[in-house]
Amino acid sequence: MNNFYFNLLDRNNRLLVQEIEEIIGSEIEIKVDVARINKLGCEVDKDGATILLPKEDYFPNSSAYHELLHIRRFCVHKIPRILACENFNGWNSKLSSALISLDNDIEHFIIVPEEIKQYKMRNSYWENKVENILVNYDSLGLIKDDQERRVLINWAFVHHVFSCKELIDKANTAINNLCIVDRTYQFIEEVVQALDKKEILTQVFFKHLKIPIDAGSLEYLDCINNTSYVIQLKEVQQNQYSRSLRSG
Ligand SMILES: [Zn+2]
Repeated sequence: MNNFYFNLLDRNNRLLVQEIEEIIGSEIEIKVDVARINKLGCEVDKDGATILLPKEDYFPNSSAYHELLHIRRFCVHKIPRILACENFNGWNSKLSSALISLDNDIEHFIIVPEEIKQYKMRNSYWENKVENILVNYDSLGLIKDDQERRVLINWAFVHHVFSCKELIDKANTAINNLCIVDRTYQFIEEVVQALDKKEILTQVFFKHLKIPIDAGSLEYLDCINNTSYVIQLKEVQQNQYSRSLRSG
């Protein structure tokens, strides 16, 4: 990472940057993207990782940590990310961005608890963000299926990450109003069991959010050898199954 930005980081983040760069064998790039508003982001591909800043001098440690955790999962731990399957009949750019956004939501189930543990003040940032969705899900112009999907994901996120009673009550009100209480409890039970296995976790999300399994694929990055490969989500299911049969 460029020295100027590396020197803005605290010790915790510097160690993480060094760990990632050493393993992937390339520097984490920093790029300013003025289209972003007060928010960092990141891009990863087979050649490495870039952190995106909304402006040159905006690089808070807590947000940098969040992006570094995303990068470590994809580039170091080789956790796959979800992409739309290009052969899928109903493919369009809207589906493609919806699945990228779903992948981000799923990754946050693992990343945000770590982020909050390290930077306590991020707790209220995430609580406010989720509360806003759970309270306003019906005023965003979404169709009923999409309202249910948003509430389901965010209820599960609250259940998994936060202990604030007020927020939990608001989350419960939302699933009651949408009449998806049973579906939500079934969902969280399967989510919790699959948290350390992204392939299965992705299938759980697709099933409960009623997204056709044919629509998704998983991309694995190998930043050390600068290669990547994509596998259809439905094939992962068969592989998992045959693997467990073989080992059983
Ligand atoms: Zn994120």
